[in-house]
Amino acid sequence: MSEQLGIDDTHDPARTSWVEGSEPGGAFPIQNLPFCTFLLEGRPRMGVGIGAAVLDLQALNRTGLLGSGVGDALGGQPGDLRRLMALPAGTRRELRRRLSGVLSMGADARSTVQACLHEPSSLTFALPAQPGNFTDFFSSIHHARNAGELRRPGNPLLPNFHHLPVAYQGRASTVRVSDTDVIRPSGQVLPEGGTEPAFAPTAMLDFECELAVWLGGPTPLGQPVPLSDAWAHVFGIGLLNDWSARDIQLWESQPLGPLLSKSFLTSASPWVVTACALAPFRVPAAPRHRDAPRLLAYLDAPEDRAAGGLSVDLRVALRTPAMRARGLPAQTIATPRFKDHYWTIAQMLAHLTSNGCPLMPGDVLGTGTVSGPGRGELGCLLEINRLGRESLHLPSGETRTWLEDGDEVVIAGACSAAGYVPIGLGDVRGRVVPPHHQPHPWRDWTS
Ligand code: MN
Repeated sequence: MSEQLGIDDTHDPARTSWVEGSEPGGAFPIQNLPFCTFLLEGRPRMGVGIGAAVLDLQALNRTGLLGSGVGDALGGQPGDLRRLMALPAGTRRELRRRLSGVLSMGADARSTVQACLHEPSSLTFALPAQPGNFTDFFSSIHHARNAGELRRPGNPLLPNFHHLPVAYQGRASTVRVSDTDVIRPSGQVLPEGGTEPAFAPTAMLDFECELAVWLGGPTPLGQPVPLSDAWAHVFGIGLLNDWSARDIQLWESQPLGPLLSKSFLTSASPWVVTACALAPFRVPAAPRHRDAPRLLAYLDAPEDRAAGGLSVDLRVALRTPAMRARGLPAQTIATPRFKDHYWTIAQMLAHLTSNGCPLMPGDVLGTGTVSGPGRGELGCLLEINRLGRESLHLPSGETRTWLEDGDEVVIAGACSAAGYVPIGLGDVRGRVVPPHHQPHPWRDWTS
């Protein structure tokens, strides 16, 4: 199984790097090698995370150390990661081997490679790639059950839940890189007990702890991606916060949606951990309920049952302005695990393309809120506060039901497995700011 998943020398726990901060135990040892896009003189460039440094991939390529083949595939103008995402899975694997080689302890040309390293604190990170499409799923059974129970007590899951991974199409233009301010959105909300909506800033601002799946491709229109082939089209994963305005969502999502309750911002981490790096952390798919109906053939395969899951441990932390002022650290409020996710990444991808919908390099799938069975494993405030009925108690003595202005949410992720060096995904963060009160230009014309 390990060979089928692509486990090779690059995952060897004995392999170490000469780059500072790359010792095992950190987020970015040589077994990880995640990609990012950073800005140099305002232009996007591809980078690789190693220890406490960022390797400039285009600068390294100019040294010739990546060799021809892989080097030719990377050639040309600087840009974001879409060029890498568009490479065949075999070429991406070869690039990983070359990178692991030049960064390994004892490799030649160390000073040449050293000259291509940047300090992350000196860089501005951009979104890994500008997505053309963003699809967000609803595929954790714990999240679906908890959220459904609040709306339909005793009957939380709708009939299709066990048959297909439910999703909505989001707006790719509002997917932004970590650290983008969360401007509190306004929208139509139904006042409590009222029958007529008002237009107002959301009073029920929430986060959703998710993984971002960055896709390769392109695949042709009309050609579904079979389940068995799905991972070849996954470039890698990052972290995603699908910010949500619950009051807007509750009113607008009847019967379609969500729309404006989600499309004000979705934050993605700057780092993408590749499908190759994740191979040691593949686990069996979460077991289906004993009463769950049989899956249709296009969503079921022995290899997906055996290794379709992914062991990513997530952590959501909250820090309020009062906590910041008093020097209190962010408080961990949830620790969901992606291994508990009901639908696998391959099932989401096979389902999304089952009608012939093509994939484009840089497309993003959100896995949907990741929640687990435990009280401390709930991936959004809606579940934690039970739709506003309960509150979080913070070490500052404050309580929180929904996010308030100035609150910062940080989602971090890491993978570990016996016999392998653990790797980190970095984090995605965002701080809530009050709505912008700029007058609409047409207001002046009509007054
Ligand atoms: Mn979501």
